[in-house]
Amino acid sequence: MGIKEIEHYAKEHHVPIMEQEGIQFLTKYIQEHEEICQVLEIGSAIGYSAIRMAQIRKTIHVTTIERDLERYQKAVENIQKMHFEEQITIHYGDAFDFTPDQTYDLIFIDAAKSQYIKFFEQFTPFLKPGGTVISDNLYFHGYTKQKERIESKNLRQLVQKIRNYITYLEQKEGFTTTIYEIGDGIGVTRKE
Ligand code: SAH
Ligand code: MG
Repeated sequence: MGIKEIEHYAKEHHVPIMEQEGIQFLTKYIQEHEEICQVLEIGSAIGYSAIRMAQIRKTIHVTTIERDLERYQKAVENIQKMHFEEQITIHYGDAFDFTPDQTYDLIFIDAAKSQYIKFFEQFTPFLKPGGTVISDNLYFHGYTKQKERIESKNLRQLVQKIRNYITYLEQKEGFTTTIYEIGDGIGVTRKE
């Protein structure tokens, strides 16, 4: 049992784990910021990115939340098989029902795209000063940069929500954001 098997499972079962470029960026960011110990992840799926982050250093602890029961169960299984029970705490349920009892060095938002502003508002009070929020999928398969009108109404609304989130990040007082054209678009937001 290894990380490759989890990647294989994700592909076979269409679980949207972070793409290679994105996960490389995320892990490199954590490697380069040695002060990062406490991580909060919104959207565990099957535990792939949580395990990748925990593998970086023994001093890293990841708290992660998943609302889909089947994925949550698979994540628990993967975390056990890879022996990361001590470094990863996974919660089953909606992130909006989760109230942290600690602060974090890094918050990784990788869940329902329509709710990113709400996740940011809910969890950044628990981000340490100088801490970082990393947001995945800001390009949403290229749609957020597309100039032509998108035909499907649902898709159009979702794309607009992601665009609103990008604007929100750029204007948010007390935070500085850089968006990287990596993977599916990654936002790095530092709390001052
Ligand atoms: N971070 C994972 C991939 C997460 S995919 C990785 O790269 O390995 C996004 C996941 O977020 C999905 O499994 C979905 O069920 C979950 N999700 C979406 N909205 C959520 C919410 N409000 N609370 C908890 N989980 C949520
Ligand atoms: Mg993602």
